[in-house]
Amino acid sequence: MSPSEHSLAVKVRPPAQPEARPWTRHAACIGKTSLFFAAPCERPETRVVRELRASLVCASCPVAAPCRAWAREHREYGFWGGESEEMRAAAGFQARLPRVARRPRRVNPHRVA
Ligand code: SF4
Repeated sequence: MSPSEHSLAVKVRPPAQPEARPWTRHAACIGKTSLFFAAPCERPETRVVRELRASLVCASCPVAAPCRAWAREHREYGFWGGESEEMRAAAGFQARLPRVARRPRRVNPHRVA
């Protein structure tokens, strides 16, 4: 593997399998993916409203603590455990790629098997 292939492999990991996150079975956001991840070209004012609505779901979620820890540890994108990407970055857990460099996700990371 060349150095450039290695760095790409480190940056683009496949999503974790559900059994790696057993707490997702109790997630309050099941079926609400569009609240937690931005649509392509989402407007800033739309994001503010979407993330406010997501935070209300997280506020009543019984697994917010492990969810937040997972997102911080894995430098996730989107809204996890009551935190936006900006909030995680401010806490020292910035996402791997800047928002402008990303392509839309094709999988639902909150999906339960
Ligand atoms: S705390 Fe995590 S699992 Fe719970 S609703 Fe929020 S994003 Fe979903």
